[in-house]
Amino acid sequence: MAATLDPSVDPLYRDILRRNPGQEEFHQAVHEVLDTLGPVLARRPEFAEAGLVERIAEPERQLIFRVPWTDDVGRVHVARGFRVEFNSALGPYKGGLRFHPSVDLGIVKFLGFEQIFKNALTGMAIGGGKGGSDFDPKGRSDAEVMRFCQSFMTELYRHLGEHTDVPAGDIGVGGREIGYLFGQYRRITNRHEAGVLTGKGTGWGGSQARTEATGYGCVLFTKEMLRMRDRDLEGLRVAVSGSGNVALYAAEKAQQLGATVVTVSDSGGCVVDDKGIDTALLKQVKEVERGRVADYAERRGGEVRYVPGGRVWEVPCDVALPCATQNELTAEDARTLVANGVLAVAEGANMPTTPEGAAVLREAGVAFAPGKAANAGGVATSALEMQQNASRDAWSFARTEERLTAVMRSIHDACHETAERYGRPGDYVAGANIAGFERVAEAMLAQGVI
Ligand code: GLU
Repeated sequence: MAATLDPSVDPLYRDILRRNPGQEEFHQAVHEVLDTLGPVLARRPEFAEAGLVERIAEPERQLIFRVPWTDDVGRVHVARGFRVEFNSALGPYKGGLRFHPSVDLGIVKFLGFEQIFKNALTGMAIGGGKGGSDFDPKGRSDAEVMRFCQSFMTELYRHLGEHTDVPAGDIGVGGREIGYLFGQYRRITNRHEAGVLTGKGTGWGGSQARTEATGYGCVLFTKEMLRMRDRDLEGLRVAVSGSGNVALYAAEKAQQLGATVVTVSDSGGCVVDDKGIDTALLKQVKEVERGRVADYAERRGGEVRYVPGGRVWEVPCDVALPCATQNELTAEDARTLVANGVLAVAEGANMPTTPEGAAVLREAGVAFAPGKAANAGGVATSALEMQQNASRDAWSFARTEERLTAVMRSIHDACHETAERYGRPGDYVAGANIAGFERVAEAMLAQGVI
């Protein structure tokens, strides 16, 4: 890892590297947080005395399990399942499940670690956790996905509960998978325990606006950052990477607020659509037909270009929203964005900007929002779903979106004020890390050495 850390945390970081070999994304996520904590530990020596950094970087519990499943032609496959229950000082473990071939313990730990601070920033009573599997749902039939989900839940159910651990979706896990997972949990436990999973269908305990929340929240955060600079989204060109749930709804909200979203992408390439992405068509192609952005370009016709292997960051824009996956925006991409005059970058995905890329953006004075702040709208709305489940209530879309808007504003303000309090005005990375850490650290300090 490039930058050296403050002497108050460097030995702890070395120890984390030694004890978690090969978990590069986890190292990266820890480094990024520790990089901003020196001044906090200097002001609050009791945090260091209580071993808070060491404890926060060590998950409370890590589960790894076998997930056998049978495909449509009767062949048996064995996937690996994970759930890392990272920190429950503020509430039950909360965080999504990712189904993707790249998933391993290091990836789940990086995501779980990020989730602790993200969830703390929402101000809601949720701890941090994350899980998933190296199962690849791409190209699998509904019946295969169902059997996989049932097998996965047959092990995981014993570790879950509305007061214990509450998973949701992430890459590769959407409404379909949550449905199958919930069905199996209900069958095994003989309990209709709505609060055990979030992202459920709105007809059976799901919250309005949960599907939209991560993407919408990312744009609402961007709007707040622009407001601090006396700017608005109206008339701006926005580049969005990815074309999954987060990308889709980030594009939709950006256009509702008057911007033009000029590009989206997938692992095959990107589309350039100068008139603005037709989000209804993209939704149809991606969510209903489970197609690719190339199919979107073909269906849209006209002047829309599909660039195989193309990178969205080469398309000139005022605002960039990386909404695909970790480490997708490199230093080179960041330099291209700066050269094209980008004003703001907000991370819709988890850790999509490399440390070197983030440094380029921050040094150039671009408003840069880290994922743990900018994409917290999804998990915040999950917490609203838990609230509705606990009171056996269902709120309207408008009421839920209003709450989401207020949460994103309050996260923005907490990051902004904390950065100022620590002499780093406008530094949302420091603001998010410190504000999230302080909340968890206070709770852990109060609850003793456990
Ligand atoms: N996977 C999402 C995230 O990264 C949502 C988690 C949740 O709703 O629990 O925050």
